[in-house]
Amino acid sequence: MAYADCCRPVTGTCDLGQVHPEAHCRVGTEITDGDLDDVFSCWSAGFIFVSPLDPFSYLIAVAVGHAYCDGHYTENVCVPLDHSGSVELANGSDDNCDNVGLGDEFCDGVDNDGDGRVDEDAGSCLLRFLAVPVCWAGTDAEFEAAVGRQERTFLEASGLASCELKNVHFQRVLPSQLNVPCASPSAFPSLQAIETAVENAGLPGTDLRDFDALGGFTDQDLGGTARGATDTRGRFWGETHVIGTSLPDVVLAHEFGHVTGLDDEYCSVEGGANGSAACNSDSSPNPLDATLSCDPSSTSCCSVSDYPAGDTTPCAGQYDVCCLGNAAVADAAASTLTNDPIGRCIMSSSFGAPPRRYCQHCLNHLRATG
Ligand SMILES: [Zn+2]
Ligand SMILES: [Zn+2]
Repeated sequence: MAYADCCRPVTGTCDLGQVHPEAHCRVGTEITDGDLDDVFSCWSAGFIFVSPLDPFSYLIAVAVGHAYCDGHYTENVCVPLDHSGSVELANGSDDNCDNVGLGDEFCDGVDNDGDGRVDEDAGSCLLRFLAVPVCWAGTDAEFEAAVGRQERTFLEASGLASCELKNVHFQRVLPSQLNVPCASPSAFPSLQAIETAVENAGLPGTDLRDFDALGGFTDQDLGGTARGATDTRGRFWGETHVIGTSLPDVVLAHEFGHVTGLDDEYCSVEGGANGSAACNSDSSPNPLDATLSCDPSSTSCCSVSDYPAGDTTPCAGQYDVCCLGNAAVADAAASTLTNDPIGRCIMSSSFGAPPRRYCQHCLNHLRATG
């Protein structure tokens, strides 16, 4: 005689709470009670000591049996249903409740749900980048390698490397498909011209509504001392490297930082530079910070490098490289952020000390703006 033959669990559906945006993925099961299945079984097994054969004590035996069975199960604990065997169908729903590909669109650059859009559903991608060559002189393979290094730097700097396959998508247009011409070989490319060229080319998988950022990448020296620029509409351009020179692979991460509202950390309004551009200030989301190894009022961090000899004004009023920038975080994927002893924030100059990561202020801002 097994206990289960005497008492049976009574189950019901329950709500798991707001752990998933879709209702069917929030339904679970729970044991609500232990039920007396057969009073005679319980009695003959010795679980009940009031004889149900005595008509006067039958009702007492039933009551005792219910009381006995009750409380012998773990009750009112909501257990998720197992949806792992469910097939993901093109029905606008996350059938297998895995929180990936809500609405059947996965973050993979493919139109999974067949609606003509790529990776567009809420939850399918955290971030989507479209990389486009701008007067690229090298080969397709060189473009892929150069942009790939930029993507890798961003993933490591943002702590998203482990999410890469599921949540961050990089789409690349190759130079052989579209190579946006430069109006002038030594001038900043027009971000609007890059966008228009992409729209006019109409290549598959390049609907700009499906991307968080559009980056134009060049291997030419278009910016002089500048290495890239951005606007408030998620568009930027940058030099991956200039042929014959070496540059760190931080331009995508740096310019995307501006897209989210971060300021440059290589100059400081507080340190004396011109505040008309995106130069760091107290009101920046990523202010220079003594606790992050950059006190803007100190020559230990600002008025360095380009500080003119004899000039007593820190940064000399210039929007120029005159601050080192905050310390880079040691590991962006760690649960507690700490400062790297040497590396400087990606929002500082492209020539800042490696390893290049975002600083704590920048990372917190990026996470808050999602
Ligand atoms: Zn910048
Ligand atoms: Zn920073």
